[in-house]
Amino acid sequence: MPELPEVETVRRELAAWLPGRTIRRATRVDAPAGPKYRHLERASGQAIASVVRRGKFILLGLSGGDELVVHLGMTGQIHRERPATHVRAHLRLDRGDLFFRDIRRFGRFLVVRAGDYGVLPTLKHLGPEPLDPNDFTLERFASLLEGRRTTIKAAIMSQRPVAGVGNIYTDESLWQAAIDPRAEAGRLGPKRLERLRVAIVEILDRSVAAGGTTLRDYQNVAGESGAFVAQLKVYGREGEPCLRCTRAIRRIVVAQRGTWFCPGCQRR
Ligand SMILES: [Zn+2]
Repeated sequence: MPELPEVETVRRELAAWLPGRTIRRATRVDAPAGPKYRHLERASGQAIASVVRRGKFILLGLSGGDELVVHLGMTGQIHRERPATHVRAHLRLDRGDLFFRDIRRFGRFLVVRAGDYGVLPTLKHLGPEPLDPNDFTLERFASLLEGRRTTIKAAIMSQRPVAGVGNIYTDESLWQAAIDPRAEAGRLGPKRLERLRVAIVEILDRSVAAGGTTLRDYQNVAGESGAFVAQLKVYGREGEPCLRCTRAIRRIVVAQRGTWFCPGCQRR
């Protein structure tokens, strides 16, 4: 599933060629009418002014005061040439095309009034941007976790204390910060929270630099895979020795997700 680094990789590629182009016609292709493709046709005739990212959402700012919101879901991909299968949406541009392909149909490609995210609660309540040091501060992180009685893993995955961090990078960050994924979110003190905040920023920075992590299904616009998978320290390493203390990495389920951690050096 694409997380922030993968989405940022796609955003950078789109930002290199989309701004300034006009959408001649926006159409659903092999997708039912419904909330995931809401008001898509309204993008027709509008120019693309900007390509920004919030968490795992890509927002195309349109000249008519709308935003085209793209969420890749689990298997969403952007293509400039028409893929053979699973095309859900098509933007006919003044020069070229953009196709949204999505095998498993968890993705979204819809138009809203700029900044009006009432139909997108995750986006509406999204936490600070981890790659913006003025936004993702210790004070903000601590206040968003205050009183939360869920596990720290579930809290991070909710997108509210910080935007865009999913399963892989949550496990990696908690390992780097030596925090047990089952620790109660609201009871972590400022020192451990700061370690976790720094770990999230460092790991996302490194992954963005590597073009993201490729497990299944993710690829960038050019159809390439990300290289960060070679840098994973704990995710998917069940039974292998911890790179810090040599105890065997365990896999458990936390927040309904497969979770990898070291029982030796990650503390509650
Ligand atoms: Zn360890």
